[in-house]
Amino acid sequence: MFRKFDQEDGFLLLMILRVCSQTYMLLKVKNIFLSCDTYLGPVPMEEIKNHLYKHVNKLPFIVFNSHYHWDHIWGNCAFEDCPIIGQTGIINMIHLYGKSELFKYDKQKLGVVQIVLPNIVFKQFMAFPEDKITLFSSPGHTYDSASLYDILDKVLYVGDNIEDPIPYVENTDFEQYINTIEKYESLDYKVLIPGHMNSHGDLPKKRVIKKNVKYLSALLHKESLATYQKKTI
Ligand SMILES: [Zn+2]
Repeated sequence: MFRKFDQEDGFLLLMILRVCSQTYMLLKVKNIFLSCDTYLGPVPMEEIKNHLYKHVNKLPFIVFNSHYHWDHIWGNCAFEDCPIIGQTGIINMIHLYGKSELFKYDKQKLGVVQIVLPNIVFKQFMAFPEDKITLFSSPGHTYDSASLYDILDKVLYVGDNIEDPIPYVENTDFEQYINTIEKYESLDYKVLIPGHMNSHGDLPKKRVIKKNVKYLSALLHKESLATYQKKTI
């Protein structure tokens, strides 16, 4: 399913894919296509490329990986000759877990997956000033998590840092995670796009973000389940 948001200077194509309720977001920024993560393998990525080349234009691709998890990087091999960007920590994490995840989730592969690492990394920020796009480190769901902010279209892509109803926590630095979400809240965005939708396929509303913070803060303060539930009623 495609959801298309027309924008003045281009468009945002959001594809909601069924496996893992995963979303796929692509931005057309002036003369490039910016692929936010690459889903489960080269087959859907080649389909997207063909669709765009046929109906839009043959423009170069830049890929942004929000973090190292398999369901966000397996399609990188469809963009081997393109700039693939991620936060510095992603390289080590793919080295550590790339092979075992490939084996463990083998059945989810869409096409012949070869692990392709990002070839450009940044520590805190990377900006595309002409296109008004910023990539920034946003540790939370994982230590290497990064997000994309499209200032012109007011779109924020947060990878797996926000989930409805509660975030899937792998990184135990909850304070850092809460800081990241507070940073999101300080940004002027209209649409927040997560790496996975809820079961109804809705984009998360502000109350989901608040709920995520409450949950993380309960983990940070080691609150009992009863206390947490009382607060969320
Ligand atoms: Zn993830």
